[in-house]
Amino acid sequence: MIEFEEALKIILSREVFPEAEEVELSCSINRVLAQDAVSDMDMPPFNKSAVDGYACRRSDLADELKVLEIIPAGQIPQFRIKENECSKVMTGAMVPEGADCIIMIEDVEVLSSDKIKFTAEKTSDNICYTGEDIRLGDVVLKKGLLIKPQHIAVLASVGYSRPKVYRKPKVNIITTGDELVEPHQKPDVGKIRNSNAWQLIAQCEAMNVSVDYSGIAPDSKEETLVMIRKALADNDVILITGGVSMGDYDYVPDVLLEAGFTFYFKSVAMQPGRPTLFSSHKSGKFCFGLPGNPVSSFNQFELLVKPLLYKMMGHVYKPVVLHLPLAKDFHRKKSKRLNFIPVLLNPEGEALPVEYHGSAHINSLNDAYGLMSIPIGTTEIKKGDIVNVRPV
Ligand code: AMP
Ligand code: MG
Repeated sequence: MIEFEEALKIILSREVFPEAEEVELSCSINRVLAQDAVSDMDMPPFNKSAVDGYACRRSDLADELKVLEIIPAGQIPQFRIKENECSKVMTGAMVPEGADCIIMIEDVEVLSSDKIKFTAEKTSDNICYTGEDIRLGDVVLKKGLLIKPQHIAVLASVGYSRPKVYRKPKVNIITTGDELVEPHQKPDVGKIRNSNAWQLIAQCEAMNVSVDYSGIAPDSKEETLVMIRKALADNDVILITGGVSMGDYDYVPDVLLEAGFTFYFKSVAMQPGRPTLFSSHKSGKFCFGLPGNPVSSFNQFELLVKPLLYKMMGHVYKPVVLHLPLAKDFHRKKSKRLNFIPVLLNPEGEALPVEYHGSAHINSLNDAYGLMSIPIGTTEIKKGDIVNVRPV
């Protein structure tokens, strides 16, 4: 059994070779940039009005101003502003030559069809100056960035309609267990519904990773081997849940050996999540054996699988860890493993452990804001002490 940090180090020390492809901008969410994005223009590209108002000279603010024209957004001004002159401008319109401020419509009295007067005490410039946000040639987004909606706005603004991103790894999911039926079925006596597969598929999809599902492998070496071999042919990563532990029917390690996998570790000092296995195939593909219990499988995907998938997508994953005060005293008897406890955020902003009966308690995560980690060796944490919480 190895510790979590060691397991993560082993996983992240695997060499991977992400390839790039171009995709439509609209499909680039949650993909990773495979190129620096360089701006082909200044932003804004011209001095732009930040408000609806009148473009004029600051030195004329005490006087009546003659209105020369109306300048809508997208149009080129026809007149230069000279002494005691102004032009009406819309938000986003080009500021006419000669003007050094835009007075807001709210601060203006209209005297006649072409005369106005500034009525406030002072005004800001209300001008967004050429290039103040982005300069032509600026690297606006760096290679390796995980693309979020706000980055898509930046890519759109600087003309990346088909950004180059790294190829998605192909993940295949296999669940094991004679006791499992699929969600549309009513389980007979002694059976339960397969929740892991659907949870893992969703976890992959939330990352915009390609995911395929092989189905439920019965607790049989032969049938599990057939499924693993088939999944291996066409995928980069296999996630197989259940059958990894010490039970009589936990065949996954044997079957992976037979399929040609080499193990890096077979159990991790984590609670939940101890029976977690990581292996690679000579073809360069990877396989995680994840615990059968759904909370463990969820956590191990977040904590160990995700960093590898991101690495395969060309992204260095740096999960957020918050330091929050604990809402009530915490106690545990055993402290040999790194413990992850689901917590919610109470109105005081403290981490409050939710009711949690262990790794099969699937609905314990319903209201969880994150996972609080309790280090090896720690049995007691007092209310108000700072704990590490990883949002999930
Ligand atoms: P195992 O590691 O195969 O012994 O499974 C550990 C526990 O997780 C057992 O109680 C299984 O019934 C349960 N389990 C295994 N696979 C799944 C699954 N796909 N969905 C829900 N529970 C599962
Ligand atoms: Mg099983």
